Order: sequence, then C-alpha cells, then structure tokens
Amino acid sequence: MISKDKHHVLKQLPGVDHLMVLAMNDPRLQETPVSVIKTAIRRVLKQTRQAILSNTMEQCNQEQILTHVASLSAEIIAPRLRPVINATGVVLHTNLGRSLLASNALENITTIAGGYSNLEFNITTGKRGLRYDAVEQLICELTGAEAAIAVNNNAGAVLLCLDTLAKGREVVVSRGELVEIGGSFRIPDVMTKSGCILKEVGTTNRTHARDYENAIHGETGLLMKVHTSNYRIQGFTKTVPLKDLVTIGQKNHIPIMEDLGSGSLIDLSSFGLGKEPTVAQAVSTGADIVTFSGDKLLGGPQAGIIVGGHDALDKIKANPLTRALRIDKLTLAALEATLSLYRDEKKALKQIPILRMLTIPFETITTRADRMVTLLKNTLGSKARVATADLSSRTGGGAFPEVRLPSRCVTITAPGMSAARMEKAMRNHTPAIIGRIDNERFIMDPRTLQKGEENIIASALRIILCSG
Ligand SMILES: *Cc1c(COP(=O)(O)O)cnc(C)c1O
Repeated sequence: MISKDKHHVLKQLPGVDHLMVLAMNDPRLQETPVSVIKTAIRRVLKQTRQAILSNTMEQCNQEQILTHVASLSAEIIAPRLRPVINATGVVLHTNLGRSLLASNALENITTIAGGYSNLEFNITTGKRGLRYDAVEQLICELTGAEAAIAVNNNAGAVLLCLDTLAKGREVVVSRGELVEIGGSFRIPDVMTKSGCILKEVGTTNRTHARDYENAIHGETGLLMKVHTSNYRIQGFTKTVPLKDLVTIGQKNHIPIMEDLGSGSLIDLSSFGLGKEPTVAQAVSTGADIVTFSGDKLLGGPQAGIIVGGHDALDKIKANPLTRALRIDKLTLAALEATLSLYRDEKKALKQIPILRMLTIPFETITTRADRMVTLLKNTLGSKARVATADLSSRTGGGAFPEVRLPSRCVTITAPGMSAARMEKAMRNHTPAIIGRIDNERFIMDPRTLQKGEENIIASALRIILCSG
C-alpha cells in the first residue's frame, strides 16, 4: 500500500517534458547533447520515485531535481577510459594499463592511423602485401629467429600455436608450470579450448627429463614449457631446461614450444632484476616456437609475438584462426617503432618508459622523493605530516614476482583523516591518483610517476586536506 502522503509527493514530481524545457534553459546544461539530458532526467526521476517509496525522501523540489540532472549529465558525458596517476610503484600495473608507449611509438600511431598506409600493399610490386611483413624481419633480427608473426596478444598467440601444432593430440606440460595469469588465462583451459589434450608430468615441485620421455607416445603432439611468470616454486625443486627439452623433442620428432610470458629482449639482471632467459636465448636452444607479450617487459603495445622456425611459422600463418587474432594497424605502428629502439640497447633503456622506470638509479628516486617532500610540505603546511620511507617497487605484469626494487617513497599522514579515507579521496580526484596504504600511511612511489604529476598530487592534497 502506498500511503496518501507518498501519493501526494509522487504526483508532484514534474514530468519529463516539463523538466526537458527547464533543462534546455539551464546554464549548466547549455553544452550538453539533448540525448544525454533526456537519459539523465529519466534516471533522476526513477531514483527520486524510488527514494520517495522507500521513505528516504519526503519531498522534492524542481531545483534539486535539476541539480541532479546536471551532475548526472556531466557524469554520463565524462569519458570512461581516462588517464590516472600511478603512484603505486608497480611498473607494469595490470589494472592501470600495463605498459606505457615510447614517444616514437605514439608518433608512429598518429602518422600511420591518421592517413593511408601500405598496411597490405607491396609498394615495390604494386600488388597485395601482407600486414605481418611490417615487423617480421625486425623481430627476427632482434631475436635470431628464422620467422615471426605478431598477433593480438600472448594469450591468443598460445592458443594459435596449440591449435596449429597439436590440435587433437597430447601436449606434455610439467605440473609445476600449469600457470594461471590474472584475467582467467589458465594453461589447462587454453589447452581445452585449442582442442589439445593436456598431459601433465612430474610433480608440483620436481619434474625430470625422464618424466617427459616417459610421457611421449604416438599421440604426443607437442612438448611445452611455460614460464612461471607470477609465482616461484622454492625449496626442493627441479625443472628441465628448455635446451634439454629440445634434445628430447628432436630425438622423438616432436616440436617444442615455450610460452615465455613477459619475454624480455634485454638481459636486465645487472639492474637488480632477476636472471631470466631473453627471447634470443630461448630461440637459440632450437625450440620450434617461443611466444611472448608485446606489452609486458617489451614495453610496447598489447600484442602476442610468436617466433620460431619456418616450418612451424608457415603452418601458423596458414591457420584461419590467425585472421581472427590478427593485429591491427595502430598496434603494428606502435610495435614497429618500439622494436626499432632495441637496435640500440642504450636507446631502448632510455626511451621505453617501462625499461626506464625499472632501471632508474636509486639516487634519482631519492632526489625525486626529497623534492616531492619539499613541495608537499610547502603546499600543505601543518595540515599533513610528510616524510619518506625506504620501501620497494615491483615489476608487476607477471614478471620477476620475487624481485623487490629498492625505492624511496613519500608518506603522508593527516590529523583527523585515516589513510583509508585519504586513499579514497585521492582515487576520486580527477585525474585519479592511485597510491597504497602501509602502516596507516598513504604511500606514493616516485618510480612510477611521470613528469609533472608531483604538481597534480600537491594540488589534489591541498584540496583534500585544506578545504575543510
Ligand atoms: C602474461 C602471460 C600470458 C598472457 O599474455 P597476454 O599478453 O596478457 O595475453 C600468457 N602466458 C604467460 C606465461 C604470461 O605470463
């Protein structure tokens, strides 16, 4: 039963048409498209009716409704995908867009996507060309592989390789390497989707060469090694090196594949990152196929790169699934530009943002942290306690999971405001500022801050802490 009072209030609600006329004359809504205003009015009226019926609102006036329409319209119009400030210190942050592109990659996207290009046209012969040719030679040059192809992402690359090389047959994988990556990429599931039969060997902590050898029979299609990107098995462990797997495969005429996951083109161990095989090292073992991501340690656009021998790559290129996973021209433009930087390792380390952030010297970080502390102290005065703390940054993106990169972070505490509330207020600022909480302090790591972002942070904190 709706009470008489509620009935009365509901009846007083203005209609859509009436509100529309008011909204069109409202100075706050002059630039707003009519379709957006209409959507906002309908939603506000619906919410208001519900609020009245559930007793959370006793009366309503036209002015309030219009104010709601104006703010909801602004919300509807605001882009959903927008820039954020990453102060977490996680360099390849999976939730915050993973890799950042180098400026030459951004420029090349503008050049290629803003006009016509030879995407599928051979300028020399005047005939149809292949989009895959744009990066194949460059990838081969950098990895030492015979052939290569770039597709939509590494998950797609793995699916495509399994489908091409082992559909309907068994794929032998160590139990210690049955990886799950965030976003529901799981080796056993990809195996099922590609029509392969997973043949698990060994145990979680130890797998021997004989485990692979004993698993091989007439129905074996592929021996596969998967990089344990986001975890480490420690203690009493044993894995079979790719090189030994290649020997077993060659003896039995079975192809070998490694999913490297992140796949670095540069040995980063001298920068305090772990000793991981580079793509070129994996290729040099003689493996038939190696796959890796374009937007993890490579620091390029989202892509999956498959390198290997002519035999395997020819089959992959002819697979109809390749068309479904094909790379688009924006990605291709960014990928070619990014890869070209690797011809000079020093240039790559300097110009590819991901590599630059991972290899910043500690002294540079401390200088930046100190400068930020001065700026924030000057801006916030007695409203906050600003200090530094020696904590660590992480690579993220499922690479070097055990590595902690030493960093000097800026910490903020404010009287009368919990760290949780500060974190939320910073997150709801435009642009959103994403930090972390440690020991009841709001923490920002200079490692992942881009040029000029310190000033935005200072102004955000001033609004949050000094406006009350
Ligand atoms: C990240 C990762 C993938 C998936 O790569 P995407 O580029 O995210 O599709 C697959 N395998 C491994 C081992 C990975 O680390």
